[in-house]
Amino acid sequence: MEFRDLKQQYQLHKKQIDDAVQRVLINTNFIQGSEVSHLEEVLAEYVGVKHCITCANGTDALQLALMTWDIGAGDAVFIPDFTFFSSGEVVPLVGAAPIFVDIDEDTYNISPQSLEQAIQYVLEQTNLKPRVIIAVDLFGQPAEYEQIKKIAEKYHLLILEDGAQGFGGRIGTKKACSFGDISTTSFFPAKPLGCYGDGGALFTENDEWAELLRSYRIHGKGKDKYDNVRIGINSRLDTIQAAILLEKIQFFDEEIKECNQVTEEYNKGLQGVVKIPVVKEGFVSSWAQYTICFRNGKEREQAMKCFKQNGIPTAVYYRKPMHMQKAFKENKVVELKYIVTEKVCERCLSLPMHPYLDINSIRKIVECILKI
Ligand SMILES: *Cc1c(COP(=O)(O)O)cnc(C)c1O
Repeated sequence: MEFRDLKQQYQLHKKQIDDAVQRVLINTNFIQGSEVSHLEEVLAEYVGVKHCITCANGTDALQLALMTWDIGAGDAVFIPDFTFFSSGEVVPLVGAAPIFVDIDEDTYNISPQSLEQAIQYVLEQTNLKPRVIIAVDLFGQPAEYEQIKKIAEKYHLLILEDGAQGFGGRIGTKKACSFGDISTTSFFPAKPLGCYGDGGALFTENDEWAELLRSYRIHGKGKDKYDNVRIGINSRLDTIQAAILLEKIQFFDEEIKECNQVTEEYNKGLQGVVKIPVVKEGFVSSWAQYTICFRNGKEREQAMKCFKQNGIPTAVYYRKPMHMQKAFKENKVVELKYIVTEKVCERCLSLPMHPYLDINSIRKIVECILKI
């Protein structure tokens, strides 16, 4: 059993993907080939925003957004305490202060209430200037953008949507990566829309930011990459990866539908047994992860043992709250309360999730949990 079955996906679409890669090999336009700009058009249309700018990975995408907004020393950036390291890593990288915020008990996304408290704390107790909210679409479900937007407007903050796990998700008909002033995603192989290496993208409606992002990602280029008008980075999506993504986007929505069917089967077996994922009314998840919560850490360890004995791969996303990561200790300026995050880190477990997970595998997984 695979945690995320990339092998089966490739076998199913092998001809289509092989042909696409072959075309790039023959053209040898490995950097900034026509597939890259074509993919940017396709993705912008898919998400429903004016600009898509691809880059080398989802972490660079977050950094590029902060560079474009000139975020740096003296600025406070708000990030959920429960997320992948990248969401917070980029903040000290540009010289700003990360402020971690507790999460919602049901969705595991940033808690709007805790967010507002954190902003008020920073305004009253520090010399930092609140500038950006990094809202993460954790496990595939978009964050609470209606409430987050109200808070952003009230305190004049920018929203950076980290849609690395949320790509393909929706609120109503509005797609993930359309909720931020700038939004980002990752094409790391195991993400909902993965390529065959590293890749990432940014989305925005703003023409000026789009132009800056296109400059920052290629050495701060002006007219061309030998005319350098600002200090940038080297962060491009390879043509081969763009070609693969152009094929994979064609069956992406179908895969999300299948993941939602897998979810229904899981829910049927696990409802009332463990805490199953809560998808809010009107929200659609792209199921980057199917994450359950046990009553305590001991139960989780027991279940993991059973899974291991039965050859079922599982993973703990995430074991450690962001504010407890050693790397942030010296950058941390504000210590708030993280009651929900600490609880979830002890109890959560992510189960295998992909479009090809069959009913027998799901039964086997559910049985392990019922047993303990
Ligand atoms: C994977 C991930 C990233 C980083 O993406 P990379 O392409 O691996 O750099 C950022 N944020 C979240 C929430 C992620 O899950």
